[in-house]
Order: sequence, then C-alpha cells, then structure tokens
Amino acid sequence: MIDRIKERAARAIRERREEITRIADEIFDHPEVGGREFFAANLLTRILTDNGYEVARPWTSLPTAFSAVLRGSAPGPRVALLAEYDALPGLGHACGHNLIAAGVVGAALGLAAVKDELPGEVVVFGTPAEESNGGKVTLVEEGALEGVQAALMFHPGDANVLEVSSLALEALEFVFKGRAAHAPSGAQEGINALEVVIQFFNLVNGLRPYLKNNVHINGIIVEGGITPNIIPERAVARFYIRAENRRQLEEAVKRVEDCARGASLAVGAAFSYHRYEFSYEPMVTNRALAGAFRENLLALGVRDLAPPRCIRGSLDMGNVSRVVPSIHPYLALGREKVIPHTEEFARAARGPEGKELAVLAAQALAWTAADVLLDAGLRSRVQAEFRAAASED
Ligand SMILES: [Zn+2]
Repeated sequence: MIDRIKERAARAIRERREEITRIADEIFDHPEVGGREFFAANLLTRILTDNGYEVARPWTSLPTAFSAVLRGSAPGPRVALLAEYDALPGLGHACGHNLIAAGVVGAALGLAAVKDELPGEVVVFGTPAEESNGGKVTLVEEGALEGVQAALMFHPGDANVLEVSSLALEALEFVFKGRAAHAPSGAQEGINALEVVIQFFNLVNGLRPYLKNNVHINGIIVEGGITPNIIPERAVARFYIRAENRRQLEEAVKRVEDCARGASLAVGAAFSYHRYEFSYEPMVTNRALAGAFRENLLALGVRDLAPPRCIRGSLDMGNVSRVVPSIHPYLALGREKVIPHTEEFARAARGPEGKELAVLAAQALAWTAADVLLDAGLRSRVQAEFRAAASED
C-alpha cells in the first residue's frame, strides 16, 4: 500500500514539474539575504495555502519564518519539512537555497495530492537566515518543533552524501579597551587597544599547533581605531570558533579567552567578550531516517552515493538535530563537482541541473515523509536511535 501511495505522490510531483522549477527560478531571480526573505516567504506560503496547507505567519519571532500544516485523513504522527530560502550577500543563490525551497515545497505538493491516504500531519517550516543568524535556532528555542517525529530537508552539494555531520560553532566578539592619547606626543600615556588586538591574534596563531583536529579558529578585526594621530582606545575582533563537539568547543573558547587576557594584561588594557550570533550545535544525522531516504533515492534511480562526511562548517540544522531526529543530506548538483558559494554553483542552481535536482529532491523527501507517517516500525527505529544518541551526551 505504501508503494502505491508513494507512486501517486511522485506522479503528482512530476506532473507539476513546471510549477516546482518556477519556484526555484523566481527565488533565484529575487535574491534576499537572511531575515529579509519577504518575496520568498510570500511566494511559498501562497503556493502552500493554495494546496490545502494551513499557513501561520508571522510565526515565531522571525518575520520571514512560517509554518504550513497539512492534515491527513486521521490523527497520527507529525513530520516536518524544512525549507531555506536566503541568499548570500553579493553572490545571490550561490548556496542553492532556491532549490531547497523548491524541493521542499515540491514534496509538500506531492504529499497534498495523497493526503486522503495519509494519517497525521505534514508541517512545512520556512526557516530564514541559514547563512547568518540561523532561523532554526529560534525555531528550536521557541518550541516550534515540539511534537515533531522527524525533521527532513536536503541541501545541494558536490556529491550525494546522506549521513552528514557538522561542527559546533561559537561566534564571539572581543572588545578591548585601552586609553586614548595623542600620537605620537602623548603615546606613553596611552594604552593602544589596536596593539592589544594584534598581540591577541599572534597569541591565537601560536595556539594552532596545540589545537585538536577539526578545531578551527578564524578571526577578523572589525574596529581598530579612528585616525592614526590618536592612540586607539577601543578595538574589536570577531571570531568563529568551531569544534567537533561541545566539550572541545568549550576548551577552545577557554584558550582563546586566555589569549585575550594575556594580551590585555601585558599592557593594562581591559577586555570583554560576548556572543554576537547564535551558537550552532553539531549536526547529528539520524541513520535510520537517512536509511529510509537512501532506499528512496535508490528507487528513484540514484546510484552514486558517497560515504558519510563531516563538513568543515556549521549548520543551524545541527540545533534541530538535538531536539528531533533529523537528516540534512547533500544531493549532487549536476555531474561536475561544483563547490557551494561560488559563481559556478550559482549558475548550476539556475540551470537545468538545478531543476532536475529540485524535482528529484521533492520526490525523495515526499517519499521519506510518507515513510515516517505510514511505517510505525521505521518510527520506532528512529526514536530508539535518537534516545540512545541523546543519552550518550
Ligand atoms: Zn547553504
């Protein structure tokens, strides 16, 4: 019975190929950076409303987030599909989030076509600002994922990677305070906050040989004085610090803090630091869910599946994966290996390979969502694995 329902959903998606690929193109042609995705949120919620979804917007405290619920034929489990739609400043849709939006909404249309045979609920979450201040963190903090059995999405990439892990991230801003003085005549009375930042960077660079594998520290100076004839009183640096898990991340943060303290102490400056963007948790892929997605991809004719991969970056889906069993598979965009955040990737996200990927992803996601709703055995394997992973922490 499941196979017949899935085949009906896939047929509905293939029949609506034009509409699905138009979503990808329209969002591509109206790139909006995180938090300002009004065009995309309007477009997606209109299509979902027209197809029987009950849309809530505004939703959570984010103006460009939304939720859209499809009720099946009977009470039952709740499965979530997560859509991203933000662009990169200056590069447009070079991360292919237009394809995520089209693939997820395409899946939602396929599921709407079989809702008379589905128990439970499908909920599409519009999740803004993945590239900056991840909207999924707010989703989690505001309790939007309560009662959800599984959270599904996909991301375009350079290969088909179904089991993805990512690094934990802290975004920290360090503020150094010295004492202003005229340069050069009053230099001895001043405390040069810019020099403190430069020492801070040197100390951090000196840490590198001691850092564990997969600990990454990247910094920039965002304020370093106003004019050369005033000794800078204030200087500010921002860092992304990443590690494989929370414990290693906290250790790395502590060492960077020590560097800031050492640099300040040496000349009597003061410093403080704070988080300036959300902190991301490492992505934990639910292997049982990824297995269902794999079977569906194979049935759709995809053969070249890559081994599990830890991406050397961070995802706001990581925070979702701590509270709900989740997958964040990468699906290859075209046959050439194109790397996200490049112009080539953007071209492919607007090209025929992008359209093919959106339709493929829509079918694989719709089928996996149907599996979650219809297969109690799968749900209990997913839950058992999730509980076991949570108790290891
Ligand atoms: Zn992305």
